[in-house]
Amino acid sequence: MMVVMHEGATEDQIAHVVVRIEEIGATAHVSHGERVTVIGAIGEREELAALPLEACPGVDHVVAILKPYKLVSREFHPVDTVIDVRGKKIGGGHFALIAGPCSVETPDQVMQAARAVQAAGGTMMRGGAFKPRTSPYSFQGLGLDGLKLLAEARAETGLPIVTEIMDPRDLDVVHEYADVLQVGARNMQNFLLLAELGKLRKPVLLKRGLSATVEELLMAAEYIVKEGNLDVILCERGIRTFETATRNTLDISAVPIVRMASHLPIVVDPSHSAGRLDLVLPLSLAGVAAGADGVLVETHPSPEHALCDGPQSLCTDDFGEYADRVLSLARWAGKTVA
Ligand code: PEP
Ligand code: MN
Repeated sequence: MMVVMHEGATEDQIAHVVVRIEEIGATAHVSHGERVTVIGAIGEREELAALPLEACPGVDHVVAILKPYKLVSREFHPVDTVIDVRGKKIGGGHFALIAGPCSVETPDQVMQAARAVQAAGGTMMRGGAFKPRTSPYSFQGLGLDGLKLLAEARAETGLPIVTEIMDPRDLDVVHEYADVLQVGARNMQNFLLLAELGKLRKPVLLKRGLSATVEELLMAAEYIVKEGNLDVILCERGIRTFETATRNTLDISAVPIVRMASHLPIVVDPSHSAGRLDLVLPLSLAGVAAGADGVLVETHPSPEHALCDGPQSLCTDDFGEYADRVLSLARWAGKTVA
């Protein structure tokens, strides 16, 4: 439930409503807007409905939130969330181009990719050090050594680092090096991991599960936000369908659906959805046209030698041209890229 206060409601009136909500064992989240303050109440639906909050001084009206997710809903927080990652913003009109190799392989490979991303106007660098691979015999990532290489790339280029965390036991080490912690599609419903990430004060990029609905994605984000970490970037990375022409089907409608349902930023991943180099540009442009706040894309200095996801990776030599197309559409759509 959401309690909308009158314009000019006093701090005492707000505090009183919070007390009334907490008295019944529910939790109150206060958001001070430019004009009005809104108090979100999370708890037993029937008990909250029975509270006569409209009668409290300073309350304008009460809105029931019927969606199963609350804190991430636009009803709860009507204004777009803007996330600041070392000065690079995403959401609320700020567009992010996040690019880099699927996995960190060698110092040269990471540095070449980072330089290409920076030169092309990319805003953040991606790269996996802990890789979730379908086969246990495939390359699993360089682990800590990979994180160190990413940190070197950041030191040279200034690009913030987005990298995946797979296991809560790696939290300390990944947290030390990453600027954004990525939760991969296969871990979207690893609720223990999500709750741990919720306790951090570092942005999380949460990928949609292979067979997850948009509602399940938002519920997964709720696990993080509920613990107090409000900085969650959602990612549409394609879902399993009967179509075999692509590795997954980019669910483009998820972009406007998420934007209507939630205040959190959403990016598209044209690399893992298509699994095909020739679709990366068209799917990126489609994502931008649909209103995405960013693109997360794979690029490698030598895709044919990549240890992971070569067939879908843009060659860094072609990355500048790709970035020009994507960023000019984003700017045309009224977004700021910085
Ligand atoms: C990745 O981004 O490298 C990755 C493994 O993606 P996903 O979790 O979407 O498969
Ligand atoms: Mn990959």
